[in-house]
Amino acid sequence: MTAEKRTFDTEVQELLNLMVYSLYSNKDIFLRELISNSSDALDRLRLEALTNTELMPKEELHIRLEVDKDKRTLAVHDNGIGMSREELIRDIGTIARSGTQHFVAAAKANASTGEGEGEGEGKGKGKGDGGKLSEDLIGQFGVGFYSTFMVSKKVTIITRRAGEETASKWESSGDGTYTIEEGSRSQPGTTVLLELKEADEEDGLKDYAAPWVLKDIVKKHSDFVSHPIRMLVERQEPVLDDKGVPVKDAIPRLIKEEQTLNSMKAIWTRPRSEVTEDEYKEFYRHISRDWGDPLETISASLEGAFNARLLLFIPEKAPFDLYTRDQVSRGLQLYVKRVFIKDDWEALLPEWLRFVKGVIDSEDLSLNVSREILQQDRQVKAIRKFATKKILDAILKIKDDRPEDMKKLWKEFGAVLKEGLAGFDDSKDRILDLVMCRSTHGDEPTYLSGYVERMKEEQKGIYYLTGPSLEAIQSSPHLEAFKAKGIEVLFFSDPIDEFWLQGFTQFKEKSFISVGKGEVDFDAEADKTEAEKKKTEIEKEQFKDLLQCLRAHLQDELKEVRLSARLTDSPVCLVGDTHDMSKQMEEMMRRMGREVPKTKRILEVNPDHPFIEKLRGVCEADKKSTDLKTYAKLLYGQAILAEGGELPDPNAYSRIIMEVANKAVEVS
Ligand code: ADP
Repeated sequence: MTAEKRTFDTEVQELLNLMVYSLYSNKDIFLRELISNSSDALDRLRLEALTNTELMPKEELHIRLEVDKDKRTLAVHDNGIGMSREELIRDIGTIARSGTQHFVAAAKANASTGEGEGEGEGKGKGKGDGGKLSEDLIGQFGVGFYSTFMVSKKVTIITRRAGEETASKWESSGDGTYTIEEGSRSQPGTTVLLELKEADEEDGLKDYAAPWVLKDIVKKHSDFVSHPIRMLVERQEPVLDDKGVPVKDAIPRLIKEEQTLNSMKAIWTRPRSEVTEDEYKEFYRHISRDWGDPLETISASLEGAFNARLLLFIPEKAPFDLYTRDQVSRGLQLYVKRVFIKDDWEALLPEWLRFVKGVIDSEDLSLNVSREILQQDRQVKAIRKFATKKILDAILKIKDDRPEDMKKLWKEFGAVLKEGLAGFDDSKDRILDLVMCRSTHGDEPTYLSGYVERMKEEQKGIYYLTGPSLEAIQSSPHLEAFKAKGIEVLFFSDPIDEFWLQGFTQFKEKSFISVGKGEVDFDAEADKTEAEKKKTEIEKEQFKDLLQCLRAHLQDELKEVRLSARLTDSPVCLVGDTHDMSKQMEEMMRRMGREVPKTKRILEVNPDHPFIEKLRGVCEADKKSTDLKTYAKLLYGQAILAEGGELPDPNAYSRIIMEVANKAVEVS
C-alpha cells in the first residue's frame, strides 16, 4: 500500500505552528509528554489484559529510549496498547480534540490582547507574557504529542494495536500534512521516532541525542512513572590486572548496558517528613499534567477496617474542562497495592471535588474492579468519605491560615464547591463555612459568618441578590432601600447559586431571603413611625388609578403592578413572588432543555419618584390618555434594563424612546 497524504485539521495546523515557532523555552518537556503517553498506553494494556490475558506481552511492560548520535534521532518505544490505523488518524492529527480547540482559541485570544495593548513598554513585555502564557496553556490543555515538533524536523510513529496483526506508520514534518501507510512491527506497541533539530542552547534546544541529557530529563520530570524507562548506555570500564588494579595506559573497555532511568518509587507510601516539597511538586505535575505548582498537598492514611493511603493535591488553577461534564479530566488515580487501576475521580470523590488530583492507593480492593462495582463498594464509599473529609479539613485550614490563598482557591473552584450545596450532601454545612461572596459591605468578599456577625438584631434572615454578573447586581434597583437603611445584601452571580439558594439551605439557622422577590417588609427591622404609616395609606389611595392603568397596559407581560418599599432612586423595578423561579433560573432550566412556563413578574413603582408623580398627574387628567400606554411600556423596558436583562423586542423599545424624546423636545 502506498502512503496516503492527508492534511491536518485547521486547529491542529495552527497548533503545530504555535509549537514549531514556540517561544516556550522549556523544550525538554516533549520527552515527558511522550513518556506519559507511553505510560498511559501501558496502563491501558494492563487493564485490558485483565479480561483478555492473551494481550499481555511476554516481555515486561516498559518504555525504552534509543538514540542514534550520527543520524541525530531519538526513539521512544513502548510495548503498550498501541493504536489501530483508525485510532492513529483519530487521535493524532485530524479530529481536533476539545483540548486542542480550547488551546488554539486561548492562544489566539492571548496573542490578540498581547498585540492590542502595545503601550509604551514595547514588544519585549508582550513577548515575555506570550511565552509564559503558552507555557501555561500547553500544560492546561494537554497538547502533549504535538510538543515533539518543538524539537524535531520530522516525527514518525510506528504503532500496532494489541490484538491486531498489522502495524501503521504515520509521518509528518509539522508542515500541515502527514502521511499514513502500512508499517511493520513484530510486537504490539508504539514507537515515536524523532528526527531532531540541531541543538541550539540559546533557543533552549539541548542535544536530545545525548544520553546524559535524556537521563537528566527523565530524572527530573518522569521519575515517578510506574513502568521502567530504559536506555542503552555506554560505559567505560578500566582494564584491571589479576589483582584488580587498573592497568596503566590501557584503553578502557566500552561496555553497553541497559539502564533503568527512573526510580518508580511510590511517593505516597513514604512518610511525609521524608519527601521534599520539590518531589511532591514534580509528582503533582506528573500526575495532573499541570505545569504549575499545587496550591495544597494533602497526605493521609485511612486505617481500620479498610486501609488506604492518599496523596492529594489542590491545583492552583482550574482546568479548562472543569465544567464539561462529558469530559472526565485526568489526574486522580486509583491504585490497589501499588498497582495502577484507573484514572477516574468519579467513584472516588463527590462531583464537587472533581478538581482534586492525586493518588488513592487501597490495600483491600480487588484488582479486577469494574466501575459499577467501584461505585457500590463499601470500601470505596469509606475511602470517598475519608478523602472528602480530609480535603475539606485542608481547605478550612487554608481559610484560617492563608487568607490570600483561600481567595485564589475560591476564585478558581468556588463555583464547583457550591455544587455540593445544591444536593443533599453531608458536607453542606462545612461547604457553607467556605462560601465567599461580595456584598454591599465594602469591596472585599465576605464569608457568611462575617455577614451574620454584622446582621442587625431584628433582621429576619440573610439577604441576597442573584444576577447574571456582579456589575448587574451591584447596580440593581432592588438594593436601593437596603443600602439606604444600611442592611447588608450578599451578591451571587454564579449560575449554580440559584440552585442552592432556592433550596432549604440555612446558615446558622438563618434562612436566605432574596431581595429580588416578595414584598419587602422592613417593619421588623425598623418600626415605622405613625407619620410613615399614614404616608403609606395616603399613597395607596393616591396611586390607585395609576396602578390600575399600568396594569391594564401591561397585563400581557406582568402579574401585578404595586407600590414599592424597596426603591429610593429608581422609578420602577421587577420582582418575583416569594416562591417564583427567578429569571436566571428560568433561563438556565431552558438552556438545559427543560420546559419551563414563563413566570410573569411584578412591577414595583416608586411613589416618591418625580416621573411617577408626573404620570399620576397625566392619569388624573385623563385616564384614557394614549400616552399612558407608551409610558407604561417605557417603564417596563427600563425595569428590565436596570437589572441587566434583555429586552424582548429592542426595536420596539427604541421606537418608544424616540417617541417620548420627540415629545420632550417639543415641549421644551
Ligand atoms: P493526550 O495524551 O493529552 O491525550 P496527545 O496528543 O499526547 O494527547 O495524545 C493523543 C492520543 O493519542 C492519546 O490520548 C492516545 O489515545 C494516543 N496516543 C499517544 N501516544 C500513544 C502511545 N504511545 N500509545 C498508544 N496511544 C497513544
